[in-house]
Amino acid sequence: MTKRFKHVLAAVFAGLLALTLTGCGQSAASRDALTHAKQVKTLVWGVKADTRLFGLMNIKTGKIEGFDIDMATALTKQILGADAKPTLVQVTSDTRVPMLKGGNLDAVIATMTITPERQQVLDFSDAYFNAGQSLLVKKGSAIRSVKDLKAGTKVIGVQGSNSVDNVQKAAPNTKVLQLSDYAQAFTALKSGQGDALTTDNGILYGMSEQDPDYVVVGGTFTKEPYGIAMNKGQSRLRQAMNQALKDLKANGTYTKLVNKWFGDIPGFDAKEVQ
Ligand code: GLU
Repeated sequence: MTKRFKHVLAAVFAGLLALTLTGCGQSAASRDALTHAKQVKTLVWGVKADTRLFGLMNIKTGKIEGFDIDMATALTKQILGADAKPTLVQVTSDTRVPMLKGGNLDAVIATMTITPERQQVLDFSDAYFNAGQSLLVKKGSAIRSVKDLKAGTKVIGVQGSNSVDNVQKAAPNTKVLQLSDYAQAFTALKSGQGDALTTDNGILYGMSEQDPDYVVVGGTFTKEPYGIAMNKGQSRLRQAMNQALKDLKANGTYTKLVNKWFGDIPGFDAKEVQ
């Protein structure tokens, strides 16, 4: 090794050390998310933009709207102060885990069930919404419940959702067609590419509200408690999130938001989800 090369190496190491000490060189995934959020006065949330009632892009305003969005806003303010605003980044059922793991997001609030498989790679907050999986069919369909899904029935689901695995377990002979998001899945159902669409009841009621020719049938056949997903090792953020959830429940904000989005949906019990 030449003397000059040694000097260059030493300079590079010194630079790296300085970056590490000042925190500038830390990746988003490894730094303390709560400390950073307090500095920049925002939390970066992964949210759905394809899911009516939870997170849907309003093409007139260019804003994403829904229960998960209102929760992200309320939680951000509860944790960081009334002047703080959430930063919203669109995810789908399929992209939310890799985007969170990749360090692009502080948290995901996107109709996401707390499951043991996901808990191996992520941490979750306490449950904030108790959904359950169901079926959406065209009015008058012979399919009345999951028992009617037979060999030859085609069911539509979304990639990256656990609904696909759940329906395969409940109806092993049924063929499942996987689309990349809920907007495409509903379009596929309407164009006759499948006999039923399966996901959580709240999401299906959003579709039925948009087009009453489609109805939710058979009640729920799974339990889907939604949690806020965060990276492992972010225990301070997780604690702050759980405390903020408790605070929003205690001060009435949570129930107000549940009723705002789900209070007037025929057939949906807004009390059951809380
Ligand atoms: N709650 C289910 C899940 O986490 C279905 C809804 C969704 O695709 O986000 O996979």
